[in-house]
Amino acid sequence: MRKGDISARRENSIKRQGQLANMGLTPVTGQKPKYYDCDKCIAYCCSIYDRVQVIPRDIRRLAAHFGVTPEVASARFTKTWGKERILRRRSDKMFGQACMFLDQETRKCTIYHARPGTCREFPTTARCAYYDLIKFERTQQDDPDVLPLVKITFRNGKGK
Ligand code: SF4
Ligand code: SF4
Repeated sequence: MRKGDISARRENSIKRQGQLANMGLTPVTGQKPKYYDCDKCIAYCCSIYDRVQVIPRDIRRLAAHFGVTPEVASARFTKTWGKERILRRRSDKMFGQACMFLDQETRKCTIYHARPGTCREFPTTARCAYYDLIKFERTQQDDPDVLPLVKITFRNGKGK
């Protein structure tokens, strides 16, 4: 890679960070910068997605966490959705439905160290759209505690 490329990238990165800072978004952690803070969120991602997919490794982890067999863990904590196996959900006072492992008072995961890979990877980018929404509305409404409650319905772009 040419030296000029690195400088240009660094310059773009600095410019980008300046833009994010102007939006009230500053990196939260040291290593890989990320612009969201789950501790200040109400667990949108654990609520609005109907499907949190689990694979056999996730089920084994859940089984070990609860001291049951994988078969019991699978039956107790998951269900099928088409060809997928997903986490079960239950009613949620904020969003109507949420993952069965979400603590409704603290809005935290009750099985954090045993959560599935899908949850570990989310949102896979330095930004989280839902956290951006929180930050945006809190700034717009000049209220550090306001909670924008949105529900998302997914369509395939052809209205189906
Ligand atoms: S929606 Fe974003 S900020 Fe909120 S808990 Fe999930 S990843 Fe964290
Ligand atoms: S397992 Fe935990 S992190 Fe994953 S969706 Fe459920 S509450 Fe959220």
